[in-house]
Amino acid sequence: MNVYLLKDNKVSETIYDEVIKLLKQFNNPLYFIKSDVEIDLDDLVVELDTRDASKFNERDDYRPTLSTSHEHYKIDFPLERDAASPEDILKICYDFRKTYDIADKHFVILLTEQANNLNWFSFGDTNNNAFVHTSDWGYYLECNSAYPITYEVIANIYYMILFDDMDDAIMHTHKLAKGCINDFCEQKKDIKLKMRTADICLSCQDLMKDRNFPILITQQIIEIMESLRKKLVSLDTLINQLGVSKVEFRGYTKKMFLIDLDNIEIKFTPLEKTVYHFFLNHPEGIMANCVRDSEQELRDLYQRFFNGNNLASFENSITNLCDYLNPSMQEKVSSIKRKIVDAVGSRLASHYIIEKDRNDNLYKIKLDRTKISHTNN
Ligand SMILES: [Zn+2]
Repeated sequence: MNVYLLKDNKVSETIYDEVIKLLKQFNNPLYFIKSDVEIDLDDLVVELDTRDASKFNERDDYRPTLSTSHEHYKIDFPLERDAASPEDILKICYDFRKTYDIADKHFVILLTEQANNLNWFSFGDTNNNAFVHTSDWGYYLECNSAYPITYEVIANIYYMILFDDMDDAIMHTHKLAKGCINDFCEQKKDIKLKMRTADICLSCQDLMKDRNFPILITQQIIEIMESLRKKLVSLDTLINQLGVSKVEFRGYTKKMFLIDLDNIEIKFTPLEKTVYHFFLNHPEGIMANCVRDSEQELRDLYQRFFNGNNLASFENSITNLCDYLNPSMQEKVSSIKRKIVDAVGSRLASHYIIEKDRNDNLYKIKLDRTKISHTNN
């Protein structure tokens, strides 16, 4: 059985790659397939309270377009809201199935940054379509977001195989958590217990037997859960024993790897790299309104990382970075923070992010610089 794993364009490439890597360690009988179809959910967002159902016919207004040159989805909705309905989000999966002629027995799962109005962090339907919400896990779980997202992917496959429908699922999930895959989790942090036990309780095992749950899929699901559990445990050990991972910057463009954390790569854009290395070069910290004094240094760094040939855009980016009132610098600082928290969880992230030191109001990266090394390739 194939599992097509899609992502929308807001989901970080690093997290997506990591999820695929984790799933593909055990690639049988569920066969996980990466997708490079671009999915844009921007226009799906419609205003929660102003949506008027009587004037709004989803089917009529649902206009997926697929350009022939490069696979690219764009879905237009007429109204705006902060959270979309799960059904609206799942339409991406239906559309993918239709376009690529995917048989019913295969799974299509979308990883998305789009919030949904049930506030659920994953949702599967009776037609083997599901989505997993990818934001904010790092804050709750103190680990790479890819771990809980991977867990949710396999848990949703498990639910879609085991349960007939939502009522059936609700009837069989445990309202009191007991560390079973079928614990009903209300909040993202609640998934921690499930991930740490990596277990299926006896009563759920009986249910699986009654319903002839495929044994090889059970084995694969348990293997994936077990590998996630081990990662969480080794992360705990690392935090307790080593405190903070060594960082290696590789090659001319200084790709960033956390070598004690499974060699996770943190993928920064050229501008984010510029900002990050600028702060790394100043362990003493930088006063926010003195960035302009360092224009030449920023320029030299960006020259190294810039991969375009548009000089105007280069100059524009530098000017924006140097302007204290321009939000550009703050945006880079927060996108860097988000990528690091997504990769290592908020507790460990505090060592690597750019933060204001309350003692002297200077912005700095706390990381002990002896943890850093550079290699040529
Ligand atoms: Zn159970």
